[in-house]
Amino acid sequence: MSKPPPGYARALRPDEQALFDGLTRAQVLVDGVQIEVGVISWPTSHQPQLDWLPVAWLPAASSAADCYRARRRVLMQRRFFGVCKTCGRRYARGHMLSPELCHRCAEQYHQILF
Ligand SMILES: [Zn+2]
Repeated sequence: MSKPPPGYARALRPDEQALFDGLTRAQVLVDGVQIEVGVISWPTSHQPQLDWLPVAWLPAASSAADCYRARRRVLMQRRFFGVCKTCGRRYARGHMLSPELCHRCAEQYHQILF
């Protein structure tokens, strides 16, 4: 489910929606729902690695709207995602040089090469 349930002031922007769809997920297990976030790391300089980290746990009876809310909360957590001050887009921290600068802007505006 990726459409917001009623009650949300705004839909996610396209950059946020892509992160929501690609880097958050709800795993339905026998005794509950595990909310996970995809964490991008760079074990070598040109080969990213994606690891899924459990970050929240919901009761088995949770609705799709509950799962959506939990995933959306994860998307706003600064230890996993940040907003680039230059382009204003939200990124996974693994795609940022610092909490406020994305890789793309670092290359384009600061001549930092990866
Ligand atoms: Zn940027």
